[in-house]
Amino acid sequence: MHARHQAVLPDWTALYYEQPLEITHGEGRHVWDAEGRRYLDFFGGILTTMTAHALPEVTRAVSEQAARIVHSSTLYLNRPMVELAEQVAALSGIPDARVFFTTSGTEANDAALLLATAYRHSNQILAMRNSYHGRSFTTVGITGNRSWSPTSLSPLQTLYVHGGVRTRGPYAHLDDAAFTEACVADLRDMLGQAGSGVAALIAEPVQGVGGFTSPPDGLYAAFREELKQHGILWISDEVQTGWGRTGDHFWGWQAHDAAGPPDMLTFAKGIGNGMSIGGVVARAEIMNCLDAHSISTFGGSPITMAAARANLAHLLAHDLQANARRVGGLLLERLRSAASPSVTAGGTPRLGVVREVRGRGLMVGVELVDPRTGEPSPRAASLVLEAAREGGVLIGKGGGHSAPSVLRIAPPLSLTVSEAEAGAAVLETALRTAEAELV
Ligand code: PLP
Repeated sequence: MHARHQAVLPDWTALYYEQPLEITHGEGRHVWDAEGRRYLDFFGGILTTMTAHALPEVTRAVSEQAARIVHSSTLYLNRPMVELAEQVAALSGIPDARVFFTTSGTEANDAALLLATAYRHSNQILAMRNSYHGRSFTTVGITGNRSWSPTSLSPLQTLYVHGGVRTRGPYAHLDDAAFTEACVADLRDMLGQAGSGVAALIAEPVQGVGGFTSPPDGLYAAFREELKQHGILWISDEVQTGWGRTGDHFWGWQAHDAAGPPDMLTFAKGIGNGMSIGGVVARAEIMNCLDAHSISTFGGSPITMAAARANLAHLLAHDLQANARRVGGLLLERLRSAASPSVTAGGTPRLGVVREVRGRGLMVGVELVDPRTGEPSPRAASLVLEAAREGGVLIGKGGGHSAPSVLRIAPPLSLTVSEAEAGAAVLETALRTAEAELV
């Protein structure tokens, strides 16, 4: 498998494990590999399997739609596209919202950047340090994680802003209020130099690939006040944080609600339950500043729209946001007590390999260090991934420059309490195995 795979695919595919994993099928919160082994999917695809693998309603919607028509392009209308657009516009919180469908998160952000630059007649973009927005030329060019961005030939001029990461950088020692104040002062200073020419700020409410790190609630509201004075747009990249994943809020921007909704939000991943779908929601005046240049061949495809409609209906009918809050909260507590057992836990030693367990809802990050040095340890993360795989659990890790030492746990939002318990037990064993290997 490995040799064949390497002969025809780029070297940078299937990198998580020493022996690549070939997935054949899934059901509920589980997937199976080519050898017939079953795994608990603690990464939900890549936060793509939002409700459950092989959800019967989605499978039925896809096959019924496929029997009618698979494709129509945005040259024409199709009923599932119109209905999904109406639903997403209403859910978005953006007034007078218009929805444009794409086939991925990258393309959604590309479209948002195109809209912002056209609307504002500027190619200057503010992005957060440590951010990730996709792998196209444009989105890699604004990604704050420089290791994703080997070329500096971006068509956009990007200014990087402090604030995405609470735990690193020059303001890490400050409390939330002082941190927010320092970041706003930094932004103000930057805007003083850049002036009103900036088109937009793009930001993830919780940085995903950057290691599930979150600025204090209210930070973007404070930023928004500054941006408004210059007419600068706020784009909330909700590719990972949308649809109730954080438990507390349906969208990540709502944690920063004081100043109201963003001017645009982008979405992808979970809405399609694994189908290729993304999109932008924007106020009509912004969306309609483009005319005939934005036809998408596959955006709004009836088959992905039908899948997303069925998926969203299931999510809302079963209030999976509430489940994410409840089961995610239990998982967070369980992992925190595994990392730092209380004195009553019968002398179980503290896990020196864990620096922090953090998260919201079913978006839980575990930051690892080398227990000997206290330094971030990508090797520890690799060891945990391998050991968890052995134990039958798949998890993710962060990427880019700073986050490969962070485990990312983001199961389907239908995770049950007993599955959370079982996964956490495997993870605890995997963390102890990694720790023993490192010291
Ligand atoms: N934005 C964020 C926040 C992401 O996490 C990702 C992918 O991980 C993207 C955009 C790009 O999405 P896609 O991989 O669907 O192109």
